[in-house]
Amino acid sequence: MKVNLLEFDRQGLVAHSATMGERAFRAQQLMRWIHREGESDFSRMTNLAKSFREKLEASAEVAALPIISDSTASDGTRKWLLASGGGNAIETVFIPEVNRGTLCVSSQVGCALECAFCATGAQGFNRNLSVAEIIGQLWLANRELGAIGPDAPEAGERVISNVVMMGMGEPLTNFRNVVTALHVMLDDHAYGLSRRRVTLSTSGVVPEMDRLARECPVALAVSLHAPDDALRDRLVPINRRFPIRELLAACNRYLEHAPRDFVTFEYVMLDGVNDSVEQARQLARTVAPVPCKINLIPFNPFPASGFRRSPSEAVRAFRDVLQQSGLVVTTRKTRGDDIDAACGQLAGQVQDRTRRVIRRLQGVQ
Ligand code: SAH
Ligand code: SF4
Repeated sequence: MKVNLLEFDRQGLVAHSATMGERAFRAQQLMRWIHREGESDFSRMTNLAKSFREKLEASAEVAALPIISDSTASDGTRKWLLASGGGNAIETVFIPEVNRGTLCVSSQVGCALECAFCATGAQGFNRNLSVAEIIGQLWLANRELGAIGPDAPEAGERVISNVVMMGMGEPLTNFRNVVTALHVMLDDHAYGLSRRRVTLSTSGVVPEMDRLARECPVALAVSLHAPDDALRDRLVPINRRFPIRELLAACNRYLEHAPRDFVTFEYVMLDGVNDSVEQARQLARTVAPVPCKINLIPFNPFPASGFRRSPSEAVRAFRDVLQQSGLVVTTRKTRGDDIDAACGQLAGQVQDRTRRVIRRLQGVQ
């Protein structure tokens, strides 16, 4: 079996190259070929010694997951469905905007956390993605978008300027692999993204938030979705383990290390569930202890979800209350609707190892 070099951050690549008798700066050159040039053919890595290239040829490869489909929405949002083995698939989404381009990256095949309104959660959990499978999404998207290599735009005009870990899965329950992939995103010999332009979204796995603060602080988004524990217990079941008070304390600890001085709270607007004016007032009180911005997300429906999107008047009224309490609020535009690439719609295809779907259908929860 060949070693996939996308598995390694710089430290790993230096160590791996050392096993082939190569010095650290050779590993750095190799890293630049792979990630900055998007090169997978060792014979083209012309500044590496021929002997090193031959050893790599024999023992290594640079390979992302195979593309099953590639679709572009009318608003330019592009979605790749990637085969993750065993009939399963994950999704990666590129969202072009005027001054930036954001890649939404998956961290797991499915998700174990069962948030009530999430298409990924409804499918159950299959497995964690490896480092190569996570960073491979960025590597592949850059290649597919013509963003790297000889014809790439000048520096400063990056096609992918931001990465959000907001695809399928809960990134903090795949901690080691996600952090290693984050190292590659941030590394100047690879993608050189600033910590402020890489955002990890979590449903609130408190101990791992502390670990992330220590090991690799990037911008943080937290899926709050409810102003109180009773409702959040239902919508985001991990709240039963880490209730709102503990979550907010973890946010404040995180901010001591974070590259930004606020946390983004995501709040999906569910008609008649969490979108009343009274709940907006309560939310403003709840988040008051944490320097934050609130991102209201229109619910993206999927079959049998049991929820409806809040009407736009309700979203506006909710936003106004928050703003009157002095909070900074943004309302997310839905992007890629016509190719099911919108937030929370990423379903891929997941064979649920936990057999959750069947349990749910049988009402055995
Ligand atoms: N597991 C992480 C990151 C992936 S989900 C998390 O939960 O934060 C990215 C965002 O999409 C989260 O805020 C999530 O709550 C939200 N989301 C999930 N399902 C959605 C849906 N159907 N409509 C809109 N947003 C959704
Ligand atoms: Fe998992 Fe996030 Fe979906 Fe919850 S919202 S089920 S944590 S992917």
